[in-house]
Amino acid sequence: MKKELRKAIIAGNWKMNKTRPEAQQLINELKPIANGIGCEVVICVPFTSLAAAVEAVKDTGIKVGAQNVHFEANGAYTGEISAVMLKEIGAEYVIIGHSERRQYFGETDETVNKRTKAALAGGLIPIVCVGELLWEREANITEEVVSRQIKLAFAGIGAADAAKTVIAYEPVWAIGTGVTATNEQAQEACKLIRGRLEALYGKSVADSVTIQYGGSMNAQNAAELLAKEDVDGGLIGGASLKAADFGVIIKAATVG
Ligand code: PEP
Repeated sequence: MKKELRKAIIAGNWKMNKTRPEAQQLINELKPIANGIGCEVVICVPFTSLAAAVEAVKDTGIKVGAQNVHFEANGAYTGEISAVMLKEIGAEYVIIGHSERRQYFGETDETVNKRTKAALAGGLIPIVCVGELLWEREANITEEVVSRQIKLAFAGIGAADAAKTVIAYEPVWAIGTGVTATNEQAQEACKLIRGRLEALYGKSVADSVTIQYGGSMNAQNAAELLAKEDVDGGLIGGASLKAADFGVIIKAATVG
């Protein structure tokens, strides 16, 4: 498989962190670090900081994303935000189906599919998260779980749209735990995902989609993970909140 065909994308998932002034400060610290970097740098900030982040990254290569999107364009969905709204504010990416949304907010493979379609229809790049729970890995059903998540997330999505997506392989047991998948486990799962894409859409789509690893990726382990053939980038939680650490990771992606 041809890593050089794919865009290396490092996305920070800030989760529910940073007020607007704090977001502005972190972006100011990131700007010189990201300047001239050879990978795509994305920061997925809380909804309340989207406008400030879009303004702050103007004239830099840094892109802004959201952390969720509703599947309807508008209507009586109190508390929700649509793709149209995200696009209008200047977001380019959106994380979909993060394990915290699945665990705490009732996200299912079906709603992941609906949100992915809505994001694509709205001109956003979805970062579709998949990954197994600890018991699923221990029961040796990682392949089955991840294959099912991919199949259902992409149900009814055509090849041209699938080619516009980013997929994040995030083993749930590695998210926010300080326990990282081994380089081999990350590679194996990302390769499996690429194989599923090939079965659904053919080789050229599979070869072109960026597949990230996420789960306690940090300044120390990023280079080795990103050097793996099918690991094209990272979705970074905790380490994206520190400019210096995030900087090491984006530099590693530029090389890897
Ligand atoms: C995440 O939130 O997607 C994530 C990978 O978090 P962390 O890097 O903190 O494990």
